[in-house]
Parts: sequence; structure tokens; C-alpha cells
Amino acid sequence: MQAISVQQPWAFTIARGAKPVSNQGLPTAYRGPLLIHASMRVDLTACDSPLVQAAGWDPSDPLAAIGAVIAVADLEGVCSAAASGGACDCGPWAAPGLHHWRLANVRALPRPIVALGRTDMWEPKPALVAEIKAMFSTAAAATAASVAGAVSDPHG
Ligand SMILES: [Zn+2]
Repeated sequence: MQAISVQQPWAFTIARGAKPVSNQGLPTAYRGPLLIHASMRVDLTACDSPLVQAAGWDPSDPLAAIGAVIAVADLEGVCSAAASGGACDCGPWAAPGLHHWRLANVRALPRPIVALGRTDMWEPKPALVAEIKAMFSTAAAATAASVAGAVSDPHG
């Protein structure tokens, strides 16, 4: 498990599943689960971007938190075409001159978990990973219980 720190509102748009690429200065050989951590800094000019607005940017949404892990994604590949000046099909969120980390299967956390981030990619502490796994399994159990209750409870 690895993590990246991303400024808001970009972290929000990733967590919402709207932004399938993360623009990074460096490539990585890592593939697998990647925590999306919203850093303490906010890119204020980006909040007015049409792309960000179309993604439903809402400063009062829990996913707009800063200084917290807000989602888990799978890092499936890195497109480096633009970094060497070439064209690619990474879409409107991909920035020229940077490496495009392609994200898939984004799962927003049920609630943000406050954590210190770092620049570039970093390895989350085991306690943080455990907390996130527990959060998802609790949420899955609650969903299963409510579905089972709705189906099998003849008195309800
Ligand atoms: Zn690309």
C-alpha cells in the first residue's frame, strides 16, 4: 500500500471518481492500492475551474477535507507520453509535461481519516492501513445487514 498527497480540490475530484488521472512530476514502477490523501494546502484558483465545478466541488463535503486520507484507488499504470512532449488519450484532466498516474476502482472513505502527508509518494503506517480496512469492512457489513433485513424480516 502506498499513498499520495494531493491538493484540494483535486483530491476531491479523484475521490468522487471524476478525475481518473493524477498528474505527477515523476513516474513510478509501483502498481496497486494507493491512498488518496488531501494535503493541507489548497489550490484556490483550481476551485473555479469548470472541470472541478462539473465534478460537483463542494467545500462543505466531507471529501473536501484537508490533512486527511479520503479515498483508496488502484494505480493501474503510468502514462509518460506527455512528459516527453507527446500526445496521449488520458483526457481533459491530464496536464501537459507531467506523468499521468492512471487510477481505477476509486473507493471514497465513509469518513476522512486525519493523517500527515508528504510530498510525492509515501508509505502509510500500518495503523492507518488497518483503520481504513476496518472502516471498509464495517461499512460492507452494515450494507449487507440492511439488505438482509429488508429481504428477510417479514415483521419489518
Ligand atoms: Zn497520458
